[in-house]
Amino acid sequence: MIPVKGYAAEAVKVPLAPFNFERREVGPHDVLIDIQFCGVCHSDLHQIRDEWGGSIFPMVPGHEIVGRISKVGDHVKNFKVGDLAGVGCMVDSCRTCPSCQEGLEQYCETTGMVGTYNSREIESGAPTYGGYSNQIVVDEKYTLKVSDKLDLARVAPLLCAGITTYSPLRQWKVGPGHRVAVMGLGGLGHMAVKLAAAMGAEVTVLSTSPNKEADAKELGAHKFVVTKDEEQLKSVTNYFDFIINTVSAQLDLAAYVNLLRRDGTMILLGVPSEAPHIHAFNLISNRRRIAGSLIGGIAETQEMLDFCAEHNIVSDIELINIADINEAYERMLKGDVKYRFVIDIATL
Ligand code: NAP
Ligand code: ZN
Ligand code: ZN
Repeated sequence: MIPVKGYAAEAVKVPLAPFNFERREVGPHDVLIDIQFCGVCHSDLHQIRDEWGGSIFPMVPGHEIVGRISKVGDHVKNFKVGDLAGVGCMVDSCRTCPSCQEGLEQYCETTGMVGTYNSREIESGAPTYGGYSNQIVVDEKYTLKVSDKLDLARVAPLLCAGITTYSPLRQWKVGPGHRVAVMGLGGLGHMAVKLAAAMGAEVTVLSTSPNKEADAKELGAHKFVVTKDEEQLKSVTNYFDFIINTVSAQLDLAAYVNLLRRDGTMILLGVPSEAPHIHAFNLISNRRRIAGSLIGGIAETQEMLDFCAEHNIVSDIELINIADINEAYERMLKGDVKYRFVIDIATL
């Protein structure tokens, strides 16, 4: 076994603290990654607070991982020692079901995807531990190639915030001529703005924070709507083709669905702990749709990383010491993050 240092929540709703644990030995198809940076996703916070149920403790969160490969198994083909590498939200799946065969491993139909943390390895049943740690062992099939052209710390959030917003934009073929709204300018939201703008759409940010307007425009948004201002909200009624909903908290969905024009679609990405409410009238008028989307497959994640390298797209981050993680969560809850916290693992 490989001894590893990390930060864990020992139980629900207790602060994260230093935690020593072991990783499996590097198998024939595995790579060992010395982690350099790990992004802080709101999903980390939902899960340490057990807001989705079934959390496994102790929990080492972290699924926006970048670092350098320090060891490879005998049968590893695509990576060598010294390569930069990334790991996102999943580290395994059944590999044989139709979804896995199609490269949509996140929708694995038999075992389900194995999450990078708060999940269990398929064969051993051992809990998985994430990227708030100095090393991780991952099968090369679930490991991504990372360009050395971009600032590595700013690449980390692409592994979740980037792919989670890229995948639906591609699935719904968003491009020139589309009016896209991004609800919630946080980690996912700011990536959605950059990506949708790069794909040629007209982008509007729907935000509860008036002080984010200048940033939104700098990120590439064409319009900014303060959603607490009823007049502003009314001005975009029946307007959007797509609304990318990244809000992490419960809200009145109907008020936002009404912003969709005929045949418009709201894509739910945020996962508040409570179920959304919507009346059929909000959907039957204008033949509107509500859809959902879960991260992205491995091949699509690689495609997104390559797209970002080509378009020079990275996340806007605040680099933190791992000892400040609990404070970062408090700030994230208040929406006080521009626009992703990234842990400098060297501070571990
Ligand atoms: P985040 O950085 O905290 O951003 C969430 C944003 O939502 C905030 O910055 C804020 O933006 C807005 N917001 C927060 N509370 C609100 C409220 N009460 N009413 C209205 N707006 C509010 O979170 P994130 O990391 O981007 O994650 C967002 C959500 O996506 C989380 O629920 C996370 O679990 C989920 N997620 C889903 C997937 C997936 O595969 N579908 C993947 C990753 C994350 P403004 O200040 O602009 O209003
Ligand atoms: Zn995430
Ligand atoms: Zn499968």
